[in-house]
Amino acid sequence: MAKKGEEKKEPTIYDIPGVGDKTAEKLIEYGYDDLMKLATTSSYELAEVLGIGEALAKKIVEGARKLLKMGFESGLDILQKRNNYQYITFGSKALNELLGGKGVETGSITEFFGEFGSGKTQIAHQLAVNVQLPPEKGGLGKGAIYIDTEGTFRPERIMQMAKAKGLNPEEVLKNIKVARAYTTEQQMMFAEKIEDLIKEENFPVGVVIVDSLTSLFRAEYVGRGSLAERQQKLNQHMHTLQKLADLYNFAVVVTNQVMAKPDMFFGDPTAAIGGHIVGHNSTYRIYLRKGKKNTRVARLIDSPHLPEGEVVFVIDEEGIKDVK
Ligand code: ADP
Ligand code: MG
Repeated sequence: MAKKGEEKKEPTIYDIPGVGDKTAEKLIEYGYDDLMKLATTSSYELAEVLGIGEALAKKIVEGARKLLKMGFESGLDILQKRNNYQYITFGSKALNELLGGKGVETGSITEFFGEFGSGKTQIAHQLAVNVQLPPEKGGLGKGAIYIDTEGTFRPERIMQMAKAKGLNPEEVLKNIKVARAYTTEQQMMFAEKIEDLIKEENFPVGVVIVDSLTSLFRAEYVGRGSLAERQQKLNQHMHTLQKLADLYNFAVVVTNQVMAKPDMFFGDPTAAIGGHIVGHNSTYRIYLRKGKKNTRVARLIDSPHLPEGEVVFVIDEEGIKDVK
């Protein structure tokens, strides 16, 4: 953490041109206490959280990036990085197609948002099973970490899904590490502990699931006054997840609720919780809603390189499947 007037070789936030003591203090107060945090934040977000103008926010973020010498990477470098990504099948061709053909991508955050009962937790369970499939069957042959904030993780359901995939149900359960979080502090701490699990216990993590990403934040931070703090914490939490996903090449899957938007007259009158912060930090966002009978409709929103599309899938005893 930066301290004023400290002897230093490494640049700190005090070295950003245009950042005086007052701005620096404000940055620290909101948790932007190092250059990396600032450099990986969007200026839009910074303006929103700090309540400052976007021009100043942009200057700060760009200043931080410059100090860290963050600059251009060749397109080839990025392609090579993307070539390292692996995929976890949904067990539904239609859903795989929605995400480009192979399923959920490692190194990325995939967000599922939708109303109660839309299938978010079912997808989370299915991915915790499917990640354990061998690569030739669409898995990674690795385990899952499941951060459960709503108490809806069900071992019985996992066993049901595992059996349907021809896997040993008990083995599958063993390879899912479940952490029940009751507060946002615990939730954030569990995310930070993932690295210990990988390093100290040699647990091979293929997917980290947070179900739900936002419910505790929503419950704890009520009222307008605490909105900025909530967004800042959520941002920090998602950065932790993204950083580890990059480092260890696992997939991150988060679920998110929707809230009613009564002032909206056209389109779907619901919006994801967490607003721009969650939206900006998710690589893929999928909106889920109920269809006829036991079908569900999934729609990909705002992907940088995939077409927007809608597909239908089914949830039955065996899990997530295509419509027959
Ligand atoms: P949420 O989006 O609120 O997390 P869920 O993923 O919990 O929603 O979805 C719950 C729905 O999943 C149920 O309403 C039911 O339609 C379906 N479902 C859950 N378990 C089973 C099962 N064992 N067999 C068939 N359908 C199931
Ligand atoms: Mg749920």
